[in-house]
Amino acid sequence: MQIQSEICIVGDGAIGKVAALGFAQAGLSVTLLSPQRVAPVAQGAWDARVYAVNHTAHHLLSSLKVWDALDAARVAPVDTMDVHGDGAQAGAVSFDSYAARVGALAWIVEDRNLNQALDAALRFASNIRFVQGSAVSVAMDADAARVTLDNGDVICAELLVGADGAQSWVRAQTDIGVDYRSYGQRAIVSNFQCEKPHRGVAHQWFSAQEGVIALLPLPGNHVSLVWSAPDAMADQLLKGSLSEIAQRLAVYAGEPLGQLTPLQPEVVKSFPLALIRPHAITAPRIALIGDAAHVVHPLAGHGMNLGFADVEALVRSVAGRGEHRDCGDARVLSRYARARKEDILLMQMATDGLARLFATDLEPVRVVRNFGLNLVNRLPVLKRRLIGHAVGKSF
Ligand SMILES: Cc1cc2nc3c(=O)[nH]c(=O)nc-3n(C[C@H](O)[C@H](O)[C@H](O)COP(=O)(O)OP(=O)(O)OC[C@H]3O[C@@H](n4cnc5c(N)ncnc54)[C@H](O)[C@@H]3O)c2cc1C
Repeated sequence: MQIQSEICIVGDGAIGKVAALGFAQAGLSVTLLSPQRVAPVAQGAWDARVYAVNHTAHHLLSSLKVWDALDAARVAPVDTMDVHGDGAQAGAVSFDSYAARVGALAWIVEDRNLNQALDAALRFASNIRFVQGSAVSVAMDADAARVTLDNGDVICAELLVGADGAQSWVRAQTDIGVDYRSYGQRAIVSNFQCEKPHRGVAHQWFSAQEGVIALLPLPGNHVSLVWSAPDAMADQLLKGSLSEIAQRLAVYAGEPLGQLTPLQPEVVKSFPLALIRPHAITAPRIALIGDAAHVVHPLAGHGMNLGFADVEALVRSVAGRGEHRDCGDARVLSRYARARKEDILLMQMATDGLARLFATDLEPVRVVRNFGLNLVNRLPVLKRRLIGHAVGKSF
């Protein structure tokens, strides 16, 4: 069977789904290719995967009618972000929504909540065809990319979009080179109940020995842990129980949050952390978005936000292509690549720079980085610029 559409998206993570909705809203026909489904997290349970969604992403999700489809009772606004340094002279910087003149710095959303809202929006979208299967090859000709599936079906599209994550199959079909550097860390994620109210504060602690620990507010007295721990420590933490992890967190979280109690003792996940930098995000008739285009350290909580911004830029480039160009036209793709270059590079440099700066255990470096945190805290203009980048708005 031959399936024809203007756009073929490979990968149905949040970024692939949002892209499908964006293209469909722009009046384009879309085929969304996904692998076989995995069992979803049980209803009611807290999802260990959560995302800090920034204003750019919030705006995109609202315009696609996804934001209103979220279960609002399971979304927590972040009003303040407290960042703590390490050592005896630990520096600190605090960002708050009041100073930034926004209602919230970000919103914490569970993966399941986000995907359910996306699925609900997709059910109402016209122009999207859902195909399950595995792509085995792709061929380009003058007017289309042809993706052959393992059952022999072929999807023909003017533009092939790789939204298939860090190990992108689509990217591997191109000659795009990739720089890969492991951080030697694993991110451990789980959820806890806290004794004291979190008051919408996201806490983050940087430590050369223990990595980066973030506790993000969830609705009620709940917090989500993202602990980017050095590999050896992560292995040790994962061998123990969540109660043991909670005890280790007490040294950081005890004062602001009180005692932490695991929400679902069996739910803990971990992710190896790496910087993945493809040398390009386009190839003939191909555009990469989301983690297929860039993987950054999660310390800034921005990987997915970058992906949402990719979708916005790609849909804008394709929708504004002019009548004489097709969706995969080289100029359309180079406009997309140009639009994303600076944002992606800035985020890669900022997250990588911070990860390396705080992984160094030398005393002079520790002094300088903690001084830097205190300095930023005392410079309102710089602070506002940083908040602007973090929330996805310019002030
Ligand atoms: C611990 C941690 C915390 C994070 N916190 C945040 C945060 O707070 N805020 C934020 O913005 N970002 C955060 N991120 C980053 C964020 O998780 C990713 O950037 C985001 O999930 C990438 O989404 P994606 O859809 O591009 O890729 P993925 O979520 O990896 O989805 C890819 C999809 O493609 C499918 N696929 C793969 N191969 C194929 C194939 N061959 N054919 C068809 N389909 C295929 C997969 O099944 C999957 O559904 C965090 C990351 C980590 C590790």
